[in-house]
Amino acid sequence: MESEQSAAAIVDAVREIYGYDFVPLHRPVFAGAEKANLAACIDSNFVSSVGEKVTAFEASIAAFTGSRFAVATVNGTAALHVGLILAGVERGDEVISQALTFVATCNAISYIGAHPVFVDVDRETMGLGATALKQFLSATVRLTDGRAYNRVTGRRIAACVPMHSFGLACEIEEIADLCAGYGIPVVEDAAESLGSYVGKRHTGTFGLIGTYSFNGNKIITTGGGGMIVTDDEIIARRAKHLTTTAKTPHPYEFVHDEVGFNYRMPNLNAALGCAQMDQLPGFLRLKRAVADYYHDRLADIGAGFIKEREGTRANYWLNALCLPDAAARDAVLNACNDAGVMTRPVWRLMSSLPMFRDCMHDGLEVSRWLEKRIVNIPSSVPDAVIADGPLGPYLA
Ligand SMILES: *Cc1c(COP(=O)(O)O)cnc(C)c1O
Repeated sequence: MESEQSAAAIVDAVREIYGYDFVPLHRPVFAGAEKANLAACIDSNFVSSVGEKVTAFEASIAAFTGSRFAVATVNGTAALHVGLILAGVERGDEVISQALTFVATCNAISYIGAHPVFVDVDRETMGLGATALKQFLSATVRLTDGRAYNRVTGRRIAACVPMHSFGLACEIEEIADLCAGYGIPVVEDAAESLGSYVGKRHTGTFGLIGTYSFNGNKIITTGGGGMIVTDDEIIARRAKHLTTTAKTPHPYEFVHDEVGFNYRMPNLNAALGCAQMDQLPGFLRLKRAVADYYHDRLADIGAGFIKEREGTRANYWLNALCLPDAAARDAVLNACNDAGVMTRPVWRLMSSLPMFRDCMHDGLEVSRWLEKRIVNIPSSVPDAVIADGPLGPYLA
């Protein structure tokens, strides 16, 4: 099919479920107790960093993901930053991640003074590839006293940060096994994958530490916010301590025992989070219906629709199409955006950004291949879904 026809088919499919005004890529839905929770917060005077909503939101994320502990943070980047510190990453270390990711993953590594190292992604999941990682580790790592060092740079490889792109679970079990063999802790960037699973296990719970984001464009939002999850009680306590200015408990004295961060989530944001968590199962059901609808509607346009891998369950946070080449992608981007249907290409590879240009990387063949072809299409939770509408058949 010509790119023009592909674009027209995408615009039609999008408009049938999202209507005829401008269609954003992803907008939040506040159809629960958000306003009531916010009002209750304001009335209680607990709007800032201490409050029962923070505790309730943490408990809700822990229960939903099956983590023993959850610590709320001011955003997902802060969660990653502290997660990496708690995994033992120090200045001058290296951290393995993927070039195909949102910049926050690599910024967090850089805040510590550590260096990202980019390993290729897998074509099906768009997340860190187990095969590429295995090759990289066996070619590059020297083990000394149970610690992994990069033979080429001499630096310690202190952590690995796989990311579940657009809510598609990456090969996290294989990645966790590989890293365990080299004594490399895994910090999962699960910012995009709340509600995504491998088997019955939630993404973000395979590594030592997992992190989530509740930015305005994520599957649930707290305005801005993040979460650190772990099964390790000491790490959880340290996470709370470090994100709350490292203040030692005392009824009135201010004593801090190390340089901490003001990374806590305000109670107001957590109040939103509690209301959003109540709606998450419904959001997931509707997003799956949207994905199934797109999959069928766009089957003939010459673009691959990226589906969840067998044995995994995606949250379908952002749906992605894979166009035949960069020219076809650009034609679709231009035509859809001109028609008021927001679409966007995948992130520029981190390895091409000025601040990460000198970072070590493998061949990144799949990352480069995907970078030219992937387009995200509108994926919000749709408003009123009626049984005899286009999504009806997908909501069985
Ligand atoms: C959203 C996101 C983050 C964290 O973003 P914040 O805006 O700081 O909450 C981190 N990594 C990825 C891959 C993301 O998509």
